[in-house]
Order: sequence, then structure tokens, then C-alpha cells
Amino acid sequence: MLVLVLVLVLVLVLVLVPVLVLVLVLVLVLVLVLTIAIGALPTPVNCEYDDEHEHDRLQTTIGICAGVLQMPSACPTDGYRVITAMKTLLHLVLVLVVSAASHPGPAAENGAPAAGVKLTDEQQAWLQRAWRFEKNGWLFLHLAGAPQERGFQHGFLLAREIQESLRGERIAWKHHSGMEWSWLVARAKEFFVPAVDPENLAEIDGIVAGLAAAGVLSSREELVAYNGIIELAYYWWPQEKDRLKADRPPEPRKACSAFIATGSATADGRIVLGHNTMGGYATANCNVILDLAPERGQRLLMQGQPGWIHSGTDFFITGAGLVGAETTISGFTGFDTRGIPEFARMRRAAQDATTIDEWCAIMKRGNNGGYANAWLLGDIKTNEIARLELGLKYVAFERTRDGYYLGANVAEDISLLRLETDFRETDIRLSGVARRVRWKQLMRQHAGKIDLEAAKRFEADHYDVYLHREFAGERTLCAHSELVGEPLGRYVPFAPTGTIDAKVVDARLAHDMAFAARWGAACGRAFDAKLFLAARPQFDWMEGLLKSRPSQPWTVFRSGTKP
Ligand SMILES: [Zn+2]
Repeated sequence: MLVLVLVLVLVLVLVLVPVLVLVLVLVLVLVLVLTIAIGALPTPVNCEYDDEHEHDRLQTTIGICAGVLQMPSACPTDGYRVITAMKTLLHLVLVLVVSAASHPGPAAENGAPAAGVKLTDEQQAWLQRAWRFEKNGWLFLHLAGAPQERGFQHGFLLAREIQESLRGERIAWKHHSGMEWSWLVARAKEFFVPAVDPENLAEIDGIVAGLAAAGVLSSREELVAYNGIIELAYYWWPQEKDRLKADRPPEPRKACSAFIATGSATADGRIVLGHNTMGGYATANCNVILDLAPERGQRLLMQGQPGWIHSGTDFFITGAGLVGAETTISGFTGFDTRGIPEFARMRRAAQDATTIDEWCAIMKRGNNGGYANAWLLGDIKTNEIARLELGLKYVAFERTRDGYYLGANVAEDISLLRLETDFRETDIRLSGVARRVRWKQLMRQHAGKIDLEAAKRFEADHYDVYLHREFAGERTLCAHSELVGEPLGRYVPFAPTGTIDAKVVDARLAHDMAFAARWGAACGRAFDAKLFLAARPQFDWMEGLLKSRPSQPWTVFRSGTKP
């Protein structure tokens, strides 16, 4: 019996090895032929930009993957469409071949290195100081140490989530712009990467190394573009699009609602801050609670996204007693490619500043106009709050120890509003205008009584000041565009967009390096992706991207909490 088994094994080995070698040779020949074929295809004159970066696209599996998701639509001739279809098919085959031959496959389970990867003693020591756990839809991530070390911990422990979030951003970028992700990464490499400071770059390099150890391929350039995707897609791209003569109205940007109050406005006379994020549900991946203990600078507890070294949604507290949030300035145009990326300035300000003034100075230095926001800041050491409206040409600053500031995506400074935005600030049918009015009503009604519980109720508010009734839609502080058939402004009917989270903090929690957060709609309303896509097939490009968002409870997160 044993002899029979041995003979069978021997026969199998003798047959399989030559077959495998033959397959490998065929694959290599196929790759060579396809590469030559793609390079030899003619290119129509009006589509140069699509092929200009063919080389870059072929350099990474990531770029190729993004390239086959959707056929380019900017080129009109039938002949070109045939060529494009052929090229797309060739790309697809090439992707499969290259993937099979060289891609390390899906990320390993979090906390385990990819097959064939052995962590160094130093890397294992780094990972001893970091951890992750999941709670009520959030992903708590503790990172500590030097930049490279923090980055490695981040990339390794969140490899699966970063891979998924990157996939979503690549698809969303292609859908948003019609351009390849690899093209964006190549452009970002030219002007965006060189302006990022060494510490932030070292942390990003660490993430790339951590990802690689877990079996996910990326690059410094890609992660910089990914970190800066908000400013690149919604601030740089509109200008660049004009240059390319693409004629398409801009899409709605991320929006938010926020308030900060102090003195006689609040129940205990101390600072209360509340913020929620409005964004597309398909790319709502900002469920990270980033707990940072850097070797230099302030401890940070902030909301984030897998693979981002900044907050992005922007809700943070620091070891220096600073709390902060922002809302974008609607209708803003302007971007300076010579400036420092907003994400890099935000991270530097959060980690390095010890006062509101220092924080603002860091944000203003090298301002590129990207992700132009109205920042609401508070210092629990002095009980002072402030608002920094950071346009590109116009910057406004106010501070007080008694009162409140609001954020509803409407510029408050009249010069900034008139000269750097095209926003109609009195059109009450618009979301930002309606939410701004609602905030003022709530601040008046609750003057002297604002506390954490009131802040949670504000975030979940469904009162529409245009309709004068409760109606959850795009105009309410807890926004639900997916419920609205006839929206105004730049929204389209039933867009799966709205409030994706809520966070609140007061001076007591901030002192303990803690805040309360709720993932999903601020009101707790659940969203079922499958039912939605069945009812709204116009959004079928989100198939496989849009995820259900169950109702989650409010949860307090504290710096240093272990699983
Ligand atoms: Zn709601």
C-alpha cells in the first residue's frame, strides 16, 4: 500500500513539475506579447492625457486594477471606443496574469505577517507597543513611538482596512473624475509629495512598510495622494479639469455641522464641542479612533480613516488641552500647488501646538487653499474658543471666552464669502443655509443649558427650517439625502449621502483625553445597502462598495484604553 502511494506521488511530481514550468513560460510570453501590443496601439489626438501615463499605469498592479474598472468616456470616436475596449480587455488579461504571478494576494489576517514575510526583531518590538480593537462600529487604534515606528504599527495592524479603503477611493476617484488613479498619484508625486514635512513622510513610509509586511502593496506617493484625496479631488481637480477643458459642474463636497460653546452658553460654563460629518456612504471609512502617543509633541485622540496620518473628518483632542473640529467652506475655489498639503499642516498643528495661536500659525504657514475650512477650536486650559476661517486669500479669526461659534459650510467672513466663494448665503432652500439657521435657533433655545446630552441631541436634529417641520433630508443637521426626491443645490435625488457619524466632547472628557462618538447616522437610523441599491439602480456603480450602516449606540473612547 505504502509503495503504491509513493509511486503515485512520484508520478504526480514528474507530471506536475513540467506542466507548471510550461505554464510559467507561457505566462511570461503572454505578458511580453501583451505589453508590446498595448504599447503599439494608436492613440487619438484628443485623448493624449489618457495615454500619457500609460507607463505609470503599467508600473503598479494597483494602477492597472483601477484602469479596468471603467472605460474612459472622454473620447468620442467609435474607432477609439473599439481600441479602448481592446485595450481594456488586454489590461484585464494582463492584470490577471500579473496578479497571479506577483501579487501577494489579500492582506493577511490583522496581526499576522503575510506568507513568506518574517518580521525583524525591531518590527516585533514596535508591534508590542501598539494595539487595535473594535467597538460599536468604531476601530480603536493605539500607536506609539517614532514616526517610522508609528507608521509601521498603523500599516500592519490596519492592512485589511487600508486595502479596502484604498479600493473605495480608487473607484470613487475614477467615477468622480474619469481619470486614472495612477495618473493622480503621478501628478501628486510632482507637486504634492515634495511639500510634505519629513516627520509626516517618515510616518507614511512606515505605513507602506507595515502594509508590505502584511501583504498589501502601496507606495509613498500613493499614500500621500490618498491622505490628501479630499483636497486633490475637490480643490485641485476642479482647476486642473478646467485646464483639460472638461466641462462638468462640480459635485458636492464633504459637508459637516459643528458648534463650540463656552461661558454663559453652556451648563457648567466650560467648553462643549459637537461635530458630525456629512459624506457619501459608499466611501464612509472614517470609523477609526486614532490614539497617538508620539515620542515628540502632544498626545492625540482623533477620528481618522485607515491609512490616514491626519483626521480628515477633523475631530480631535490633544494632550495640550486643545479641542477642535471643522466644517468646509461651501462654494470655495482656489488651490496653490506650491503650498503645503492641508493634511500635513493639520497633523503638524494637532501634534505640535500647545495654544490656539500656535495651532493657527501652523495651519496658516504654507496654506495651499486645499480643503478650505472654518476651524472651531477650544482650549480647556483657558476656557477660550475660536474660529479660524482659512481661505486662500482671505483668513478670518475670532475668539471669545463667552459665547459660541457655528459651522454649517457657510463662510461667515464677508470678504471670504464674496471674493472666494460663489455661495448664496441667504437661499434657505440650501442645506448649509438651513443648517446655519437651525444652529442659531438651537443655541438660543438652549442658552446656558448646553452640555454633552444636549450636544448629542443637536447632532441628531431633523428639523427642516425651510419646511417648518420635522423632515430628515439634506437640509437637517442630521442629514439624509437618500430620503429626498427633489433636492436643491448640487445634490441629486436619493443620493446615498448624509450624516455618517457624530462626536461630542466637553472640558471634563477632554481633560481625561476622551470623547463620545456614534458611528452611522447621528440619530441612529439604520441604512440597508442591499435594499437601497435594489430600489435605486441608478447608483449601481456603488455595487460592492456601498455597505449597510446599522444603528449604533454612543460610545466613550479614552486615550490609552486597551482591548
Ligand atoms: Zn438622522
